[in-house]
Amino acid sequence: MNVEPSGVILVDVCHVQTENCVAKKTAPVTAVWTAPGRTQVNVCRPCLEEKIRAGEWKIEGARIKQRVDVAVYSKEKQLQLVVEVKKNPNEMNVEPQNWATKIRKNLFTHAGIPNTPYFLLADVPDFLYLWENREHENYETPPDYVIKAKEVLEKYKNHKPSTFGMAQHYSFELIITSWLNELVHSKISHQESPSLKWLSDSGLYEAIKNGSVVMESPTLQVKRQVE
Ligand SMILES: [Zn+2]
Repeated sequence: MNVEPSGVILVDVCHVQTENCVAKKTAPVTAVWTAPGRTQVNVCRPCLEEKIRAGEWKIEGARIKQRVDVAVYSKEKQLQLVVEVKKNPNEMNVEPQNWATKIRKNLFTHAGIPNTPYFLLADVPDFLYLWENREHENYETPPDYVIKAKEVLEKYKNHKPSTFGMAQHYSFELIITSWLNELVHSKISHQESPSLKWLSDSGLYEAIKNGSVVMESPTLQVKRQVE
């Protein structure tokens, strides 16, 4: 049976519930549409992969990379922030901000990234780019905030990779997740530290305070199965 990932991530019980299910109680799951009839099935990542491995589900089309690197939910369990980790190749004549804008546009238009109130592109170890998503979204919009990553992530960072591959991507996801985990539970006033002012100015801190942080599986298994 063909299924189509919607790109939407929500909090629900997994409808599939294989042995490896991680959402037997409510947890972040992804919505897929099954053919025929476009019935919505909410499924956790391991169950989705299991269905594909078993050959019961097939994903067609380009919108297969529906996972996000890090998802942050409000206290009310609404998805507020999506973080994607990417490496800027620092090509000559490309301004970092223009690179970031282009990457975000590609993610939204081709990778099915859900349009959440906030989007953070992490070019670790250099910059974090934050957008506040507006109702009428224009994907050419440059980031609302450009933050030097080391001002925020210094204490989580213990290595400087010379190459960027899957392992580095994974460790950066961990760094970002650790930082956000601490942030959502922090009670510090950001007025006290100017380098964190953007967190309160943007409203992001309020939006995710006492919320939860979920690091998605970085596996590309689904993609490999399809190709
Ligand atoms: Zn499941």
